[in-house]
Amino acid sequence: MDTEEHRNAVLNEFRKVLARDRTRMTINGFTQLGLVEMTRKRTRESLAHVLCEPCPVCAGRGELKTAQTVCYQILRELMREARQFEAKEFRILASQQVIDLFLDEESQGLAILSDDIGKPVSLQVESQYNQEQFDIVLM
Ligand SMILES: [Zn+2]
Repeated sequence: MDTEEHRNAVLNEFRKVLARDRTRMTINGFTQLGLVEMTRKRTRESLAHVLCEPCPVCAGRGELKTAQTVCYQILRELMREARQFEAKEFRILASQQVIDLFLDEESQGLAILSDDIGKPVSLQVESQYNQEQFDIVLM
């Protein structure tokens, strides 16, 4: 950042990001130590709010349903779909964590449900799914 040109490029990038901020912000330029000096009207809205976006996995809630909760949600949903639609077989697509539970701790729950509806239920890991995502496929 020796040249004036570089400094201006940095300041321009800063201004672009900060333009999204509705709060008044003034960029004063570089200090003698080479830091960007800026002043910002005090508000309750943090700078992080301007520079970040909600986490797409939890949609900004900051927490995810446990794999177990998702398992129960899937079982309820499968039961509902089995009553509503005709299918030879049902396939659960879900994250590795959820499928692992169906293969282990929740295998009995799944077997009971499969008996109840009188249809086989198969499992498939979808590696791109986050813990809360699942699909039930009618086959
Ligand atoms: Zn998150």
